[in-house]
Amino acid sequence: MAEDFTIQCTACKAEIAPIQPGEASLACPACGKVMAAYEAGMQEVRAYIRQSALVNAIGRYRRLTGADLKTAKDTVSEMWHNGDW
Ligand SMILES: [Zn+2]
Repeated sequence: MAEDFTIQCTACKAEIAPIQPGEASLACPACGKVMAAYEAGMQEVRAYIRQSALVNAIGRYRRLTGADLKTAKDTVSEMWHNGDW
């Protein structure tokens, strides 16, 4: 299923498609920067936070890290309040 948002390359800031399930890394088509799955996943978490889709951000964070619900909620709300997105 296609995601309805893009993430930002950490190197060149290009808007790129999010990582596909099962892929270990994501290469930026613009500059070739390779982001590890964790790094790319955190970009997706931030993309959800930017859209105020905190429930999605929490869910993505949990799938990414295996964190429990409370930890994921705390982490995402901290990112939200700190403007880390
Ligand atoms: Zn790039």
